[in-house]
Parts: sequence; C-alpha cells; structure tokens
Amino acid sequence: QLDKFSHLSNSYISDIQVELANMLLKYSGLNKIFLTNSGTEAVEGVLKLLRKYYGSDKKIYALSDSFHGRTYGALSLTGREKYKKPFLPLLDGIQFITFNKINELEKYVDENTAAVFLELIQGESGINVVSTEFVDTLLMLKTKYNFAIVIDEIQSGIGRTGKGFAFEHYDFVPDILLVAKAIGGGLPLGAFLTNEKFSNVFNPGEHGTTFGGNPVACAAGKIVLQEVFKNGLIENVKINGEYFFKELNELKKKFDSTVQDVRGLGYFIGIEVKEDGNLFVEKLRERKVLINCTNNNVLRILPPLISQKEHIDFFLFNYYEILKEIK
Ligand code: PLP
Repeated sequence: QLDKFSHLSNSYISDIQVELANMLLKYSGLNKIFLTNSGTEAVEGVLKLLRKYYGSDKKIYALSDSFHGRTYGALSLTGREKYKKPFLPLLDGIQFITFNKINELEKYVDENTAAVFLELIQGESGINVVSTEFVDTLLMLKTKYNFAIVIDEIQSGIGRTGKGFAFEHYDFVPDILLVAKAIGGGLPLGAFLTNEKFSNVFNPGEHGTTFGGNPVACAAGKIVLQEVFKNGLIENVKINGEYFFKELNELKKKFDSTVQDVRGLGYFIGIEVKEDGNLFVEKLRERKVLINCTNNNVLRILPPLISQKEHIDFFLFNYYEILKEIK
C-alpha cells in the first residue's frame, strides 16, 4: 500500500478501505461502518450518532468501573473516577449502572433511554466478565424500550477471547459495535459499526476525519483480519486459552493463600492476587515476561494472539517460581 499511496483526501474512497470495511461488516454481522484512528474517537462518533438519533432528552447508561477512552465524551462514559476527577465537568445525560446488578438495570432503563454502553469483559478495571443473566435482561429491556446496545470491543474484539468478538459468547449481535487496538496490527485504526436501524443517521459532512481509515492502516487491518478470522488465530486462542486457564486454576488451588481468582476468556485473562499486583509485574519483568496490573491487585495477561503452548508454558513456569518465592 505504501508503494501505491499512503494517504488520500477524505473526499475519495480507496479500494483498501472498502475491502477492510466489507470484511469487518461480514465478520461482525453489522450493516454500516465508520473508520477512525482510535478507540476513543469511535466512541465520540457513536455519541454524536446517538444524540442525533434520539435527541438530547434521553439518557445514556454505562457500567460502573467501565473504561471507554480519554476524550471528553468517552471519559464521560467511563465509570472509573480516577480518570475523570481532574477534568470535570463532563457531558450531561450519562448515568451509571452498577456492574452486573440486574435490579439496577431494571430500575433505571426505560422509555427515556437512548443507549446502554458496555464492555462484555471490562479490561481496565480488572477483567470483570458481564453475566449472561445481565445481558439477557438487557436484551429483554431493549425489546420493550427500543434503545441501542453499544458494545465496546476495543479491547475484547478481534479474536482476543477465542471468538471473533466477545458478544458471540452471549449469542446476540449488538446494535452498535466499537473496535480499535488490535485491528490495525500496531497502526492507528478503529471503527464503529451499526445495524440497519442506525445506518443512515449522519448526512454527508456531519461527521468526518482526515486520517481515520488511512489506507496504510487499512492494509494492515486487512492482514490482521485474514490472520485472525481465516488463518486460524481464533482457534489458536480458543485451544491454548483453555489450556492456560486450566493450568492457572491448578496453580490457584495450590497457592490459594496468594491467588484470589482467575477470570476472563481466551487470551483475555485476569488473576486477582492477595498481594500488591505490581510485585508480580516487577518480578515477571525481571524474568522477561511483560504483563500489567489493573485495579491494584489484578494481573492483566493479554498474550499476543500468536502465542503457542510453549509461550504459555514459559509464563506458567516463571509465575510458578514467583508464587513459590512469595509463599
Ligand atoms: N475502550 C476500551 C474498552 C479500551 O480498553 C480502550 C483503551 O484502552 C478504549 C476504549 C480507548 O481506546 P484508544 O486508546 O484507542 O483511544
């Protein structure tokens, strides 16, 4: 793509954008797509779309502890106070429902609801998995009140959980889907996708971007999608992810004075420890394993989707040694 052209005015459409767009639409089952540079920018686009479709009187809900990005709209949807506090006031009309609390969902969501935003597995706040009962209630309420379900798969999408998208584990297709991060294979690329209902909300010129859907990023995105959806990476994550979880749960049993919980799906893994998680981050880094720690005591492990059993074993060996040391 670099040999052809690296950028094109957004007055024109390039073939590679169309190819990538069609692939994402096919794999997600959605109808219309807007390409962005990042995740937070995709969230902003959806907020504009919702405002235009539903007007300003209806409310938007997000979940406690959610993370949707750092620009003003996305920050307004983010439940984690530490990210928001220095930047108040944020957008009006956004409220929070406690994670997995079905009674709150039933209490708040009604005919005055425009949308509910959620990550099916919360990344930043400690790999928290939304329950199927919560999603079932949300789907039931949607049938009644006609709001939009917006699923943020910026972290969980593109094969990360052992399916193309995390929503496939729950057996529904969202009205609006957000993707970014992995999709560009390291280049800046994101998107929001909508179903038919929301496919004609913007008129030309009402939303735009100079570099969103840049042809070079799209060319990278096309290869990523081929590797993930056609060439077996999803299967790799599924099979090795199951092995990884089995082994991690064995170690949890063995070291139950240190390990509180193991949760997640595929290669989207959280280990809650009863120590300061940064201790593990440091000790693992000394052993050439990179992880991070979210929410003080949850080790966030997101291996590259290409990771094989031998890489998982390398992690497990070093993690085991550290658990022994701590014990
Ligand atoms: N939403 C989720 C779930 C994320 O994990 C992130 C980034 O960590 C974002 C949104 C924001 O994406 P970006 O950093 O590309 O703006």
